[in-house]
Parts: sequence; C-alpha cells; structure tokens
Amino acid sequence: RAKDQGRNTYQFYTEGMQEKEMMRLELDKDLSEALANDEFVLYYQPQLNLDTGEINNVEALIRWQHPTRGLLSPVEFIPLAEESGRITEIGRWVVLAACRQLARWKGTACGHLRIAVNLSGRELEDATLVDHVRDALTTENIAPHMLELELTEEIFIQNIAQNRSQLSQLHQLGTRLAIDDFGVGYSSLGYLRDFPVDQLKIDRSFITNVTERHDDAVITRAVINLAHNLGIQVVAEGVETEDQLHFLQAHRCNLAQGYLISRPIPGAELEKAIREGALFTGQPATSEL
Ligand code: C2E
Ligand code: MG
Ligand code: MG
Ligand code: MG
Repeated sequence: RAKDQGRNTYQFYTEGMQEKEMMRLELDKDLSEALANDEFVLYYQPQLNLDTGEINNVEALIRWQHPTRGLLSPVEFIPLAEESGRITEIGRWVVLAACRQLARWKGTACGHLRIAVNLSGRELEDATLVDHVRDALTTENIAPHMLELELTEEIFIQNIAQNRSQLSQLHQLGTRLAIDDFGVGYSSLGYLRDFPVDQLKIDRSFITNVTERHDDAVITRAVINLAHNLGIQVVAEGVETEDQLHFLQAHRCNLAQGYLISRPIPGAELEKAIREGALFTGQPATSEL
C-alpha cells in the first residue's frame, strides 16, 4: 500500500478516496514548493542529424531534484501536475529555463542549438501562454525560431478552437511546432494540412522493434515518407541500437534521438560533450576516412 511506502513514493492506488485525495494534495503542495525553491532542472537530449552527423537540436526534459528523494522523473509528477493545473506554472518555468539556457549557450559550442520543450495540452488552455513565451524570448533576447514546442496529437482532439488559435499565435510569434509521440494519438491526419507543423516525432513504440517487425518497419517508412512529402522534418524517438540507426539512415529519416546517441544530460555536460566532439555521430571518425 502506498501509505506503507511512506514518503518514498507518490502512489495513488490506495483504497480510500480520501487518502488518495490527501496524497494528491500533498504532491501538489510539494510541486508548488518545488517551484518556489527552484528544485526543477532541465536535462537535454540531442537529436542527431542523419544527413550531416551534426547536432542542431536538443529536447529539454524536466527533472525534479527533490530535497530528500533524489532526481525524480517527469512521469512521476507531470500527470498529476496536469490534473491539478499546476502544470501551467511549471510550463512557464520550463519555457523561461530553456530560454535562459539558450542565452547561456550563446558564444559557446552550443550556440547554434535549438531547444525543444514539451507542453501538455492543458498548458494551451492558459490564455496567457503566448504572452509568457513572448516575454521569456524577449527577456533572454532569443530568436523565436530557436525555441520549438512539442505537443502531442491530443491537442487536435480536444478544445480544438482554442488550441488552433493558440498555435497560430505561437506560429506568428515564430516558434516552431513539433508533434510528439506521433502515431499513437488517435487523431486524424487532417491537422497536418491545417496546422503549420515543422517536425514529426515518430513514437518510440514503432522504433523499438523496427528492425525485427515488418509492421513497425512499414509504419515507420510510411511516416517518414508522409513527412517528406509534406515538407516536414521527421525525427525517430527512442533509438537505442546501431541497427535501428542504419534502418533510419537507409530510409532517409532526418533526425534520430535516443540512448544510442545520448541520454538526457545537464546543460553544462552537453556543452562539454559537444565542445569535445564526444557525442556519438553515427559516422566514421575523420581519421578513418
Ligand atoms: P517525451 O517528450 O516523449 O520524451 C521522451 C522520453 O523518452 C524521455 O523520458 C526520454 O528520457 C526518454 N527516452 C529518450 N531516448 C530514449 C531511449 O532511447 N530509450 C528509452 N527507453 N527512452 C528514451 P522522460 O525524460 O522521463 O520524459 C517522459 C515524458 O514526460 C516526456 O515524453 C514528456 O511527455 C513528459 N515531459 C518531460 N519534460 C516535460 C516538461 O518539461 N513539460 C511537460 N509538460 N512534459 C514533460
Ligand atoms: Mg517530447
Ligand atoms: Mg515523445
Ligand atoms: Mg511522451
């Protein structure tokens, strides 16, 4: 039972609704304190350009440096933050932190990197989102195209009118739009025609067995071709093996992201790895050429 595990974990499958509600409230209170105490941190995972072997994009992934429980993964707190609405505040912090990182990287080996941040559908419900994004970019003096927003297909199913308006304002502002976890979202493809999408991210579930399973290979190739024909950049998520990378290269996928290239790491670590050319590039070292 969750209670027996004390404060070591947030779990919500307790018998009593009341107890469950208490745990939720407690987590929400902790999240609010985490914001006040600056306990969140962004890790960055590079996306490898398969044509050039260069890294031009990174995805920012939030972690919670909890005072007693160590580094917590977003899967442990983002779903609840979405439910409670706390995600709006967290999202503002994420956007500002990403812009600060972009500012810090200026003039370094990472000066050319674009950062993608994840936004939940719930964050698009905030009417002031566009203002916050604009303010963060202005405050840190960042060109809007350096910031990419990753959203999942759910935003094309629910709350469509408002989401459409928010996305078009963000597009006018100049930020880029990526569709995250593409292919598992149950939405129609019509939005690819109606919305200015810059990047499609093929969900990891298709990539995991792409070299073993015929159906995953067919779907992955179809998505790559769909993206190319629409003039959209396509990224494979969750690339863990060289075989997967070779498949993606052979089928002209634009970018690859996954543990094979790098796990998500702190900004300073990424800067060092890029400066030293220490990241996996999927290409032979120049000395071997
Ligand atoms: P996502 O945006 O689809 O991010 C990809 C997840 O896959 C990340 O998990 C990443 O660490 C993991 N991953 C990357 N490469 C590999 C790989 O090769 N193999 C495997 N097994 N996993 C890989 P993470 O960091 O735990 O984030 C989980 C999810 O939490 C994200 O999925 C995103 O939906 C959400 N999230 C993360 N940061 C934020 C944030 O700042 N705001 C919001 N709203 N959601 C966030
Ligand atoms: Mg993402
Ligand atoms: Mg994803
Ligand atoms: Mg996801």
